[in-house]
Amino acid sequence: MHSTHKGGDASPQEFRQAAIKLIDWLTNHFETLDECPVLPDIEPGSIRRNLEDGAPAEGESMLKLIDDIETLIMPGMTHWNHPRFFAYFSISSSAPAILGELLSAAFNVNAMLWKTCPSATELEQQVMQWMRQMLGLPQEFWGILYDTASVSTLHALAAAREELNLGIRENGMSDAPRLTLYTSEHAHSSVEKAAITLGIGSKHVRKIPVDDRFRMQPQALDQAIELDIRNGFKPFCVVATVGTTSTTSIDPVPEIVPVCEKHNLWLHVDAAYGGSPAIIPEFRHVLDGCDRADSIVFNPHKWLFVPIDASAFYTRKPHILKQAFSLIPEYLRTNEDDQVENLMDYGIQLGRRFRALKLWFTIKYFGQKGLAERIKKSIDMAQELALKIDEHPLFERLAPTPFSTLCFRAHPSGWDEQERLNTLNKRLLDRINASRKLYLSHTSLQGNFVLRMAIGNIHTLPSHVQMAWQDIQDCLREEMA
Ligand SMILES: *Cc1c(COP(=O)(O)O)cnc(C)c1O
Repeated sequence: MHSTHKGGDASPQEFRQAAIKLIDWLTNHFETLDECPVLPDIEPGSIRRNLEDGAPAEGESMLKLIDDIETLIMPGMTHWNHPRFFAYFSISSSAPAILGELLSAAFNVNAMLWKTCPSATELEQQVMQWMRQMLGLPQEFWGILYDTASVSTLHALAAAREELNLGIRENGMSDAPRLTLYTSEHAHSSVEKAAITLGIGSKHVRKIPVDDRFRMQPQALDQAIELDIRNGFKPFCVVATVGTTSTTSIDPVPEIVPVCEKHNLWLHVDAAYGGSPAIIPEFRHVLDGCDRADSIVFNPHKWLFVPIDASAFYTRKPHILKQAFSLIPEYLRTNEDDQVENLMDYGIQLGRRFRALKLWFTIKYFGQKGLAERIKKSIDMAQELALKIDEHPLFERLAPTPFSTLCFRAHPSGWDEQERLNTLNKRLLDRINASRKLYLSHTSLQGNFVLRMAIGNIHTLPSHVQMAWQDIQDCLREEMA
């Protein structure tokens, strides 16, 4: 019998025993991950079928539960920590970050007010300052942690709208002018989702065309804004992207800034993926111009080796953000309100996790140098592979590779029809992923089906990339046999 049957939590002895067993299990998991398939081989519904129909009436031991991970959970795992996971954006949960996350769950504080956990608020403010300094952003930028870039961008747009002082907070949107928002046709879907959520409407999101390197065209932006003004719309915000989701292109922020200044529009920069490399001195230029933006988001959970979720949002106008979101009922007032920052005032949510702990562990453990070296290694591996793709007679790249994400396809000579190439590449991707030895994703560029390979996991070595490249070539040979 274990102690839950007596009421109350597990006993300290039981906690220690189970925690040690779990950490042992995880250590072994990380040591052998390389040999596991990246993707599971299962049919939809098959994980659920093995779970009990109803909630268990009686409890069981945590030791037994840890055994169940292997039999019930592992068969359906897609291993995002795997060194040959190259789909979407390759992310990683590093050892110090895992321990920081564990600690945050254990403390279980709610960082809504300074008073409800001074360490949580003050550590958050400090790690946000460290990251701001590492990225080379100016001191005026004030930072807060949200869960995701989607939510950070939603807050940016809400602040941009609040700055217009149209009384929308009180009156809603029904009597408001028709607001319009500008972003590139390669922007992340979260921009449009935020516009939908805020009642701006997806048809008022203007998708500005891109150049041949998939970057927003500042002149086209200016023209679109002028046209909207002539037609009675009220432009209010521009969202530029540093590291777009398909090709990781970098919008020309230094040229977008003057357009925003000319029309007095809020500039938000979505650097969810592309921000982290700015901590490498030679890559700081990717954030050129961002010092003049009104807000910027980057995701430590994407490329700073902390687990989901952690999104870092900075703005030079925190008072506007607060004006948009602060609403304080009597029961949340404290004696310190005029001396401290209560982070609940700067967003939708009241309850806030102690996310700063995992960042503190990670930044302290690796140091800025260690973090920069690791990101740089991913970029170097991608650049080497880019050369190999360019030299290969059967493959071609379809976009520049400014960071560590490659967009390429098979293109045998004489295959000139787009449909035929798209079918070939789609089948190639299915074959690659069915091997379960590596995981790639895809995108579409000018109607072309493109394979997308993102290198960024902390465990990925040049040998993993080399193995993946060999597998890709083998799969193409089989596909064409
Ligand atoms: C990943 C990504 C997002 C979405 O990030 P979430 O944190 O999952 O919401 C938004 N924009 C860009 C450019 C991204 O790369």
